[in-house]
Amino acid sequence: MPRRIAVVGAGLAAVSTCDALRARGYDGELVLYSAEHGLPYDRPPLSKDVLLGKARREDVSLRPEQWYEGQRIELRDGTSVRTIRPGEGGVELADGSVAGADRVVLATGGTPRPLPVPGGDDPAVHLLRTWEDAERLRERLLPGAAVTVVGAGLIGAETAAVAVALGCRVTLVDPVAVPLAGVVGDHLAGVLHRRHAEEGIEVITAGVERIERRAGQLVVRLAGREEGVVADTVVAGIGIRPAVELAQGAGLHVDNGVVVRVGQRTSHPNVFAVGDVARLDGHPVRHEHWEAAQRGGEAAASGLLGLTVPEVGAPWFWSDRYGVRLEAVGSMADAERVVLRGERMAFGLRGDRVVAAAGIDRGRDVKVARRIIDRGIEVDAGRLVDGGDLRSVLR
Ligand SMILES: Cc1cc2nc3c(=O)[nH]c(=O)nc-3n(C[C@H](O)[C@H](O)[C@H](O)COP(=O)(O)OP(=O)(O)OC[C@H]3O[C@@H](n4cnc5c(N)ncnc54)[C@H](O)[C@@H]3O)c2cc1C
Repeated sequence: MPRRIAVVGAGLAAVSTCDALRARGYDGELVLYSAEHGLPYDRPPLSKDVLLGKARREDVSLRPEQWYEGQRIELRDGTSVRTIRPGEGGVELADGSVAGADRVVLATGGTPRPLPVPGGDDPAVHLLRTWEDAERLRERLLPGAAVTVVGAGLIGAETAAVAVALGCRVTLVDPVAVPLAGVVGDHLAGVLHRRHAEEGIEVITAGVERIERRAGQLVVRLAGREEGVVADTVVAGIGIRPAVELAQGAGLHVDNGVVVRVGQRTSHPNVFAVGDVARLDGHPVRHEHWEAAQRGGEAAASGLLGLTVPEVGAPWFWSDRYGVRLEAVGSMADAERVVLRGERMAFGLRGDRVVAAAGIDRGRDVKVARRIIDRGIEVDAGRLVDGGDLRSVLR
């Protein structure tokens, strides 16, 4: 049993790890190092209710302050870890001091990719990852403001939807004609993407070449188009880079994230990794989603305590825009074909097995689909397509 565990990062994956450690009977010391200030908070509301001005910081806290005290978790906010020294049993903090720890959990998440073009680092080009990012951006989303969102994936699409709801004049730019097709299938991705134009957004399929300043505004220059897009504010939602520096510094196996095995174990026996920063060995992608961070924490707690690690099943996420909810489970990339159940639900099949499903406002069907995927049930595609009760497939 470890005596002192240091958890680096204080997002959902870190808090979930601490929660699960105590729930599984861990009685030793638990220290949570957070580079950010204040209580750990949830990120999904940042691109939804926080930008809309409907949620305050205290509304998005992951746990109340007393919880940390009650669970005997030492929360060291505003404290960055500079290096981890798993062989010597400790972590080095940004002020140069060294703190002991016989196990380290890396829950460092990721940082948004800046726009990799000239002018991409202009202060009027916003990224969205932290509470401060959301606050800064919210101040810019004023009625009538010209806002260009680059990247029409999950966060870009949500931000565009919020901006148009707040009365901004929004342009959405992506080099891919139908973003998210690889995640939810062509049909659903098309339905989702067309909705932007239906809501009054100008949608442009093009890559950004550079960003110029002109008379207090920005001009977004696009490949293959003479005319630039003039904007007061640009938001880039083009993905994140996993924060792997500490793992690299300690010589851990890093390859598109910190590579982990069952129980979130890294290549060093004293180090575990969870959440957006971790990639499960043998899986091509990191699951940068809320539930993966939550479940990763539970798996890490079991791994740290030498307990049986719960099965995680297919990854799931949701995304909200224009009052509708997209949910997806499994991996559409593994599907050989996609079949539709009405206009708003798609299943990805490999042979006779369902490997992925996605739905727009189809939460109940996605839940059933998840059980079908997790149980590996073979199914006749006709039963997915017809309008009958999907639960019959489970029987
Ligand atoms: C705007 C937004 C909207 C989202 N919406 C959805 C959604 O609708 N649905 C969904 O499924 N998922 C959504 N997600 C994704 C989900 O929130 C993330 O997958 C989840 O927050 C990942 O948690 P994490 O703990 O791994 O990382 P993070 O939440 O990024 O936490 C990592 C923390 O570690 C800290 N840190 C890093 N390095 C150090 C260091 N050296 N020392 C100390 N601290 C350090 C960072 O400052 C940060 O606070 C959204 C994410 C964002 C940003």
